[in-house]
Amino acid sequence: MRVGVLALQGDVREHAAALSAAGAEVVPVKRVGDLDGLDGIVLPGGESTTMGKLLTLFDLLEPLRSRIADGLPAYGTCAGMILLAAEVLDGRHDQKLLGGLDITVRRNAFGSQVHSFEQDLVVEGVGDVHGVFIRAPWVERAGPAVDVLARVGEHPVAVRSGHLLATSFHPELTGDGRMHAYFVSMMTA
Ligand code: GLN
Repeated sequence: MRVGVLALQGDVREHAAALSAAGAEVVPVKRVGDLDGLDGIVLPGGESTTMGKLLTLFDLLEPLRSRIADGLPAYGTCAGMILLAAEVLDGRHDQKLLGGLDITVRRNAFGSQVHSFEQDLVVEGVGDVHGVFIRAPWVERAGPAVDVLARVGEHPVAVRSGHLLATSFHPELTGDGRMHAYFVSMMTA
């Protein structure tokens, strides 16, 4: 399996390490040619507004949007979840998204006081996971085809719809490779 990691900004190295450990060949994606031959792509955490700008600047926004719409498996963590969302609340007015996943996310949803926290979660299909949340979004609306895999309180923080997976938290920071292994198994299916 050949997996791209969007490498414009954010925690690219941590995702690359977790994907290699899951047995995938990892390709950093910086330009449109890097999309050739990918079996899937990971959109890392970082800053979604900056990533949107860089996607535009590097002429990747439309090509990646159409690859994802055509069925390229994608896994977005935190800012990456925002990029995959159909709609963002509390975003910038000109914020660019890739879309594809029928969810509305609220950016920085856990509030200005508690930017970061850690919480144990049960992720359906994966098991007990230690969730690291850093200025994380939550899912405010999930469409009928979207499965909620985990919640914090009533708010979904892990969702899957077909070939698309998104988590508010950062499994690449915990050394627990099971979310990445789950994504690799989605690509193989
Ligand atoms: N709050 C960031 C954003 O809006 C996401 C934070 C993260 O990826 N850790 O993009």
